Amino acid sequence: MSLDFHRLRVSEVSPLTDDAVAVTFDVPPELAEAFRYLPGQHMTLRALIDGRDVRRSYSICSNANGGKLRVGIKRLPGGAFSSFATADLAAGDVVEKPRSAVPFAYRRSGLEGNVVLGCTLLLTEAPVERVRADMNFVLKKRRDGTPFDQPCCGSVFKNPDIMTAGRLIDRCGLRGRRVGGAEISALHANYIVNRGGASADDVLKLIDIARTAVFKEFGLELDLEVKVLGDPK
Ligand SMILES: Cc1cc2nc3c(=O)[nH]c(=O)nc-3n(C[C@H](O)[C@H](O)[C@H](O)COP(=O)(O)OP(=O)(O)OC[C@H]3O[C@@H](n4cnc5c(N)ncnc54)[C@H](O)[C@@H]3O)c2cc1C
Repeated sequence: MSLDFHRLRVSEVSPLTDDAVAVTFDVPPELAEAFRYLPGQHMTLRALIDGRDVRRSYSICSNANGGKLRVGIKRLPGGAFSSFATADLAAGDVVEKPRSAVPFAYRRSGLEGNVVLGCTLLLTEAPVERVRADMNFVLKKRRDGTPFDQPCCGSVFKNPDIMTAGRLIDRCGLRGRRVGGAEISALHANYIVNRGGASADDVLKLIDIARTAVFKEFGLELDLEVKVLGDPK
C-alpha cells in the first residue's frame, strides 16, 4: 500500500458495541490498485482533531477489493482518534486535502466521486503588463493552432499517453481528409471542421477513418472525447 494519504469518503459509521464503531469507506475505482487488499493489513487514518493532525493505525476488517474498506475502532478513554471516530465521525463527512494529496493529471484530478465545495488558491504577484503579455502569448498559441474560425465540435479524441491524438492522426497523413462537408482540419488533426453542409454521418465516417488508420499504424485505439448523441443521419 502506498505511503501517501488518499481521500476516502466515509460511507457508513455503525455501532459495534457501546464503545466501538465500524467505519466503512468507499474506494473509488481509480484507487482500487492503491487499496488492493491482502489479509492482515492495516491502514493509517488521518484526521484534523482540535487543530492537530492525528494519525492512527487500524486493522482492515473487510475485503477492499469490493470497493469498500472497513475498520473497527474501539474508544479508549481520553484517546484522541478513537474518541473522535466513535463520537463525531459520520457518513458523508467532508475532508480537507492539501495540494500534495490531489494528484492532478491530464483528464484526472484524483477527486472523482467527490464534490469540491471550495479551494484556496495561492497566486504569485506579478506586474500587470507581464501577466497580460503571458495571457496574450497563451491565447495566441491556442488561436494559431486551433481552427476556432470554423464550426467544429472541439477535440475529437482523447490524447493517449504516448502522443497527442492530433499528432497520431497527422502521422497517418489524414490532415485535410474530407468526407462530404466534413474535413479533418489542416491546422490541427484532432479537429473535424464543417466546410459547409457536413452531416453528423460525415463526421462519424471521418472519426472511423482516423481511428482505423491510427490503429493500423500504431496499434492504438483512440478514445472519443466528443459524445455522440442520437441518430447521426
Ligand atoms: C497495526 C495496528 C493495528 C491497529 N488496529 C486497530 C483496530 O483495528 N482497532 C482499534 O480500535 N485499534 C487499533 N489499533 C490501535 C489504534 O491505532 C490506536 O492506538 C487506538 O485507537 C488509540 O488511539 P487514540 O488516538 O484514540 O488514543 P491516543 O490519543 O493515542 O491515546 C491512547 C491512550 O493513551 C492515553 N494518553 C494519551 N496521552 C496521554 C498522556 N499525555 N498522558 C497519559 N496518558 C495519555 C489516552 O488517554 C488513551 O488511553 C491498531 C494499532 C496498530 C499499531
